[in-house]
Amino acid sequence: MTGTSAFFLRREDLVPLLEELAETLEVVAPVLVEGEAAFATWRGGALALDDKNPLASPMEFFLPKKEVLFRYVQYSGRYTFSEDPPRARLIFGMRPCDLQALKVIDGIFGAELPDIPYAGRRRSTIIVALNCTSPGEGCFCRSMGSGPGAEGGYDLLLTDLGRGYLVEPGSPAGVYILRAHQRHFEEADPEDQREKERLLALAGEEIIKRGPSLNPEKIREAIDGVDWEEAGRRCLACGGCSLVCPVCHCFSVLDQGVPDGERLRCRDTCILSGFSRMTSGANPRPALGERLRHWYLDKFVYIPEKTGLFGCVGCGRCSRVCLGEVDRWSLFKEAAE
Ligand code: SF4
Ligand code: SF4
Repeated sequence: MTGTSAFFLRREDLVPLLEELAETLEVVAPVLVEGEAAFATWRGGALALDDKNPLASPMEFFLPKKEVLFRYVQYSGRYTFSEDPPRARLIFGMRPCDLQALKVIDGIFGAELPDIPYAGRRRSTIIVALNCTSPGEGCFCRSMGSGPGAEGGYDLLLTDLGRGYLVEPGSPAGVYILRAHQRHFEEADPEDQREKERLLALAGEEIIKRGPSLNPEKIREAIDGVDWEEAGRRCLACGGCSLVCPVCHCFSVLDQGVPDGERLRCRDTCILSGFSRMTSGANPRPALGERLRHWYLDKFVYIPEKTGLFGCVGCGRCSRVCLGEVDRWSLFKEAAE
């Protein structure tokens, strides 16, 4: 191995490479869980890479839906605290939209005063991203500037060229993996790079043809023109849209156990009435339509103010999971590009 620009991994070498990596790291990858592709701990065997980006996103491994922040033990009136150290992990197959979601969450949980559990997981995770050469129905990453090709934020980037993968390092950790497992890699041909560009251009056209074509700046301006009362009538307040969204990150904290126990952090969502209800019973957003409006305001106004990035990355998961008849993005017909 002479340089560190681009390499080629033959298809049949992927699983042996992951097996070697799994000797020292927890490998998380898209696998079939009860017949559905999901990011989960890989225990060998087949990967679910041919399917669309899993509904269960890799964000679960950075911000779990439920986590123990620390345990507390009381003895003679004094408390002692303990917490689990983060696990060394490699996430394989993370798509460009989810990488962009991670950048947004970095701007919230990793900013001036970092959230310690999040920062620990972030530091101990290696990301092997996968460019989207066959995007799913309803994806609109191109509108949100988050795909189909990844731009930074990964340690290694793979592009499926059919007979194998083009592999590009994005960090010293990525270069280390290439060197430590070099028997699986060969120098890429300049033609492989051209093939990658061709496939990503095709994927970009496909996304425009099949998904909603939106302008996020116009969505921001269109929010106040939407009939939120009507949208609220079609929503079932199941909260599914938030739970699958890789950018939604609201949570509740509760202590379980007296005098000894654990402090838990659990995902919550502004779609549910209990989220903004106060101890007095007063609720600043009692109507479902108001809560839906707030959901979009957060993504298109408040998160951009905080992070400089939109709070939506165009992964399309919220539309895939919606049980109601909230045609989420046609709410903003006038925001079409
Ligand atoms: S709002 Fe919907 S499309 Fe946007 S990132 Fe969240 S789940 Fe994906
Ligand atoms: S997934 Fe659909 S029905 Fe459920 S809360 Fe979201 S918008 Fe409402």
